[in-house]
Amino acid sequence: MISFLDLAQTYDELRPEIDAAIARVTASGWYILGPEIDRFERDYAAYIGSDVAIGCATGLDALILVLMAMDIGPGDEVIVPAHTFVATWLAVSRVGARPVPVDVNFDTLNMTAEGLEEKLSPATKAIIPVHLYGNPVDLAPILAFARKHDLRVIEDAAQAHGARWGGRRVGAQSDAACWSFYPAKNLGALGDGGGITTNDPAFAARIRRLGNYGSVRKYENLEIGLNSRLDPIQAAILSVKLGKLDTWNAHRSEIARIYLSGLRDSELILPSVRDEADPVWHLFVVRTDHRDAIQAGLADAGIQTQIHYPIAPFDQACYSDLNLSGQDFPVAAGAAKQVLSLPIGPHMPLDDAHRVVDAIRQLLRAV
Ligand SMILES: *Cc1c(COP(=O)(O)O)cnc(C)c1O
Repeated sequence: MISFLDLAQTYDELRPEIDAAIARVTASGWYILGPEIDRFERDYAAYIGSDVAIGCATGLDALILVLMAMDIGPGDEVIVPAHTFVATWLAVSRVGARPVPVDVNFDTLNMTAEGLEEKLSPATKAIIPVHLYGNPVDLAPILAFARKHDLRVIEDAAQAHGARWGGRRVGAQSDAACWSFYPAKNLGALGDGGGITTNDPAFAARIRRLGNYGSVRKYENLEIGLNSRLDPIQAAILSVKLGKLDTWNAHRSEIARIYLSGLRDSELILPSVRDEADPVWHLFVVRTDHRDAIQAGLADAGIQTQIHYPIAPFDQACYSDLNLSGQDFPVAAGAAKQVLSLPIGPHMPLDDAHRVVDAIRQLLRAV
C-alpha cells in the first residue's frame, strides 16, 4: 500500500520534541495567546522574511480577517482564481463581498496578470492570487496591475510554506499573505491553525484586534471582531515543525523530480515550473483525460490518489446564485475533469515514487 500522505510519520519523527512542547504548554497554565504564540509568530515572520506574523484559528479565518481589516464588504468585488480550493472564494463571500473569478493559466493552473483587466469594475477592491499546489505565482505583474488600479493584493499561501520566486520566499511581497496550518499542509499543526504575514505593523495590529473580539484592552470593544486565535499548544508544535520544514520540502522536491523525469514522455500533462519558481510541492498534480481510469487502476494496485478539486468553485451549489458558467473558465473547468494528485509527502520513500511511476506507465499503455 502506498498512502497518499501519512501524517503519523511526521509526528513519529519529532515525537520527543512535540511531546515536550505540549507538556510545556500544559504545565504553564497559559492557554490563550501568550509566549508560545509570540515565539511562533516571531519565528515564522523570520522564516518568511516578513515584518510581522499573526496567528489565527484557520486559513479561512486568515483570509476573512485580512479582508475585514481592509474594510472590504458588501458592494465590493474581489478577483479570485477560477481554479482553487473553495476557501479562497468563501472568505470573500463571508465578508459580504463578491468573488469575481478569472481563469487560470493553462500550464501552471495559477492566476496571471492576463485577464485581470477585463474583470475590473468600479467595485473591485482586491485580488487574491493563490500559490496553488505549492507552485508560486509570478506576483510582480499582478502587483503592478494592482498599483495602477489602486487595488490590494492578498496572497493565499495556504499551500506554499517556503515556496520561492526569484529566490525570495512568497508571503512578504504583497499587502498580506494568508497561511493555513491544517495538518496536511506543508507546515501543519495537530489540529486547525492559521496565520497572516504582512510588512505593515498598523495593519497587523488591526488584524490582531479583529481576531480578538475587536478588542485591545480586555472588555473594551472598538469594533465587531471574531474570536480567531492560534492555540498555544498548536503554536508550540508548529515551532518544533518549522525547524524541519526545509528538509521536508526538499524531500517533496526529490519525489517530484522522480515523477517529472519518470513521466516526462507520457501523455500526462505534468506540473509546469517557471524558471524563477521554487515550488514546495504541497501536491503533485497531473492532468489526463483518462483520470478516472488511472485513479481506479492505481487504487487496484494499492496506490492512493486524490483529486484537487473535483468540483470547481463556480460549479458549487453554494455559488449557484452567481450564475457562473464553466464555459467562461475553460482552463479551470477542464482541470476539474482532468486533475489527479499523486502521493507525495515528507516521509514517502523514494522507491514508492518509482513504483507509482511504473504503475502509471503500465496503466497508460492499457487505456
Ligand atoms: C487549506 C486552504 C485554505 C483554508 O485553510 P483552512 O486552515 O483549512 O481553513 C485556503 N486556501 C487554500 C488554497 C487552501 O489550500
